[in-house]
Amino acid sequence: GTQASFVTKKYGIPQISTGDMLRAAVKAGTELGAAVKKVMDSGSLVSDEIILGVIRDELDRPAAVGGVIFDGVVRTIPQAEGMERLLADRGRKLNAVLFFDVPDAEIIGRIERRRGIEGRPDDDPAAVATRLQSYRDQTAPVLAWYESRGSLVRIPAVGPVDDIATRVRRALALQGLVDLRL
Ligand code: AMP
Repeated sequence: GTQASFVTKKYGIPQISTGDMLRAAVKAGTELGAAVKKVMDSGSLVSDEIILGVIRDELDRPAAVGGVIFDGVVRTIPQAEGMERLLADRGRKLNAVLFFDVPDAEIIGRIERRRGIEGRPDDDPAAVATRLQSYRDQTAPVLAWYESRGSLVRIPAVGPVDDIATRVRRALALQGLVDLRL
């Protein structure tokens, strides 16, 4: 989320964060929000059907025609397959998948700090344990899926935020997606 917003600010590519969208739906009390609140608070993943619906709606918005950064997507193999279909149906393609490589202990430390600032229900220790388990069970296999398709870019993501931002920009520039001189 942090790195996506840097890229958005610098290059104007819109950021689509499914987590932010779902949290907004919960806050606004929409039907979608009511459907996902419990699952989100527990730290489990929302259904692939719901996520793919959100992705489809976002891809079809005029703001997305020039490309988008998905943040927090995809998190399961069915989402990867669904995303591929949605893009192919629209004559579009995925340019790169950025994997931010951070050890669990560091992730837990970052979440603890964020909990003091944002107070997200899914940042409490029990929900964090569930989220790490969901990651191992459902999201980790997605890495190999994209690696075998040549789309995966691994970003070492421990250290100063600015250094990580430089790695992200270099990775995107290598794919011809941004201009490093900007
Ligand atoms: P995040 O802000 O990305 O950590 O997402 C917060 C929560 O929203 C997750 O723990 C899930 O419950 C839900 N969520 C967000 N994106 C996805 C996704 N791609 N697949 C399934 N659940 C998601």
